[in-house]
Amino acid sequence: MALDRRSFLSRCAGCGLAAAAYSIAPICKLPYSPKEAMAGLPLAKDLSKVEARYYEKLAVKEIECRICPRRCRVSPLERGYCGSRENIDGVYYTLVHSRPCSLNVDPIEKKPLFHFLPGTSAFSMATAGCNVNCKFCQNWDISQVRPEQIDNYELSPSDIVDLAKRFNAPTIAYTYSEPVIFYEYMYDCATEARKKGIRSAAITGGYILPEPLKELLTVLDAIKIDLKAFSEGFYKDYVHGELQPVLDAIKIMYDRNMWIELVYLVIPTLNDNPEEIKRMCDWIKSDLSPAVPVHFTRFHPTYLMKNLPPTPVSTLERIHDTAKAQGLDYVYIGNVPGHDAEHTYCPRCNEAIIRRYGYRIGEVNIRDSKCAFCGNKIPGVWI
Ligand code: SF4
Repeated sequence: MALDRRSFLSRCAGCGLAAAAYSIAPICKLPYSPKEAMAGLPLAKDLSKVEARYYEKLAVKEIECRICPRRCRVSPLERGYCGSRENIDGVYYTLVHSRPCSLNVDPIEKKPLFHFLPGTSAFSMATAGCNVNCKFCQNWDISQVRPEQIDNYELSPSDIVDLAKRFNAPTIAYTYSEPVIFYEYMYDCATEARKKGIRSAAITGGYILPEPLKELLTVLDAIKIDLKAFSEGFYKDYVHGELQPVLDAIKIMYDRNMWIELVYLVIPTLNDNPEEIKRMCDWIKSDLSPAVPVHFTRFHPTYLMKNLPPTPVSTLERIHDTAKAQGLDYVYIGNVPGHDAEHTYCPRCNEAIIRRYGYRIGEVNIRDSKCAFCGNKIPGVWI
């Protein structure tokens, strides 16, 4: 039976999950699955029509969008590349503000963010659309559709914050598709969340222009960036985007003290070249810091890339060793549950300071942001 929003929220409150405090502990057990609970939310009857930010009005009611490096020029009654913004009589609108299509409660480790409130939950949300088209996208069923092609909920930013609180999630994650294309909604949710003591993390490809990014950084607490390769050729052929604007955006994030972690999905034969990996590690070390965590994750065949096998674990291990040899401090292997490189090791004494198995964490040996064994400061956002 469908619930209205008020009934849904009070049902959540009845679960005893409204306490604001959180701790390193197993992800809280709900009396029903978040997916079932989300299914009870009322669906939106239409798309939204909220004026977009960062666009320029041009002649004859044309506009230029200035959110991402595509800079779409859009005529009246047309949409930009991402399909989520429309020009109506010379005014540009986002159609997905308050219209999330996917909601869930995930371990923060699933994002993955390993140095950010480990062991806690992230209330996770997405709208339809994306500003690139990766041939290996795992969420193509929401990223590569227009918002009217799927069901959307109707949830204001304060509804999202209420849900995060009810599910005892200290963080809202803007994830699954590409939050840059729902910039206004993400910004408004993060602003509302901060007022209520909830943090915000964007899980993004980082394909965003500097000005909107700088404003967004004022309301976010962490960003995970998918660095999909370290060559323009790969971005052109397999992402339908560009590398340099992504590197520029990452540099801005780092320079403005945002907590960032990088993920590199290793696809056999396409972006696993040792020289490319070395160049990327050198860039991270020189332009960012060796302390930025880097996750090398295992590819599984999907979407338009079913012709390649899963990444051999030996390839991931070779790349992991290369990154360590290049001087990076926190290098992880992802999507290989049980691998030793899921754990966090202190770069000074080499002790395991956070043990993980998949998305679950075990022992945490960090005290006051320092290694409990040798006192070395460990970068991150700790409880
Ligand atoms: S956000 Fe969408 S409309 Fe704007 S430039 Fe990027 S792809 Fe185009």
